[in-house]
Amino acid sequence: MARYSDELIDEIRSNNDIVDVISQYVILKRSGRNFFGLCPFHKEKSPSFSVSPDKQIFHCFGCGAGGDVIHFVSKIENLDFKQALEMLAEKSGITLPILADAQDVVKIKMKEKVHKINEITAQFFHENLYKPDAKLAQNYVKMRKLDNRTLQTFQIGYSTNFDELYKMLKREGFSDEEIMASSLVGKSIKGQFYDKFKNRLMFPIKDVQDKVIAFGGRVLDDSKPKYINSPENIVYSKGRNLFGLNVAKKSGKDKIIIVEGYMDAISLYQRGITNVVASLGTALTEAQGRLLRKYASQMIIGYDSDGAGQAATIRGMEILQNLGCDIRILQLDGEAKDPDEYVIKYGSR
Ligand SMILES: [Zn+2]
Repeated sequence: MARYSDELIDEIRSNNDIVDVISQYVILKRSGRNFFGLCPFHKEKSPSFSVSPDKQIFHCFGCGAGGDVIHFVSKIENLDFKQALEMLAEKSGITLPILADAQDVVKIKMKEKVHKINEITAQFFHENLYKPDAKLAQNYVKMRKLDNRTLQTFQIGYSTNFDELYKMLKREGFSDEEIMASSLVGKSIKGQFYDKFKNRLMFPIKDVQDKVIAFGGRVLDDSKPKYINSPENIVYSKGRNLFGLNVAKKSGKDKIIIVEGYMDAISLYQRGITNVVASLGTALTEAQGRLLRKYASQMIIGYDSDGAGQAATIRGMEILQNLGCDIRILQLDGEAKDPDEYVIKYGSR
């Protein structure tokens, strides 16, 4: 298997101070030359987990876990050595060479294609929204009082009823295999390709680097299901991303409001609250919590006031608390079941 050079591994190690990295997962207190905290790898009440800034290693006197910063990341993120290296390289802005492992190359190329498909598709849907046959979508957008800036910021779009996406992607030269890998198109038993999103208002889901990784679509009539989302695929892992973080991270605030659905996030943005993300599913995952923690220290949970929303609030609080975040719960006064409804009724303050 192809591997990175020792020089590169050393560079990544020295660019990621072990105390800085571990502090993102464990609350550390200095005592003498070392730092101590509660071990994340076994349950304990008093800290036996130590980190040495001089030696750049960690060691737990309770369970015996130990090693350097790469070992720590691979253990806590459940990654192999190479994946942990890649994560740390990205954190410290080190560009890794593409390894000439045949299998990897195929996968990297396919990922690039799917990213390209997603990018073109988001633009295609967005342009559709301004066409005459998108009346239903335009009416909905008007009803929600979304202006052009909001529509463009989130690249909101419209998927027509006529398998036009598949045809467009073929015209752009993508193979059926690549198009299927994007999960935007399905194949019938008879072997016919069809668009999975039809007659829906479309929301591209972007990662923090503004890359389109998936889509959500909302119906414009009473049909069910009301929302459908891309399934997980080669570029999309649901529990590791948050809708709107690419926008919220530019708000310049040290706090982030977490809501359930993308319409909640978009609606708040429209009303001038730009530091909002949606957790894409009810419960916040640990990976999402860690991602958020990189961009702000205070988290405001603004889930729906129904039973599922309350359960998700409690779960989210636990996760964020363990990450050392300052947590607030958004209390909606008056008669509103979610933040979206609230700002529509009462405005943003
Ligand atoms: Zn331990």
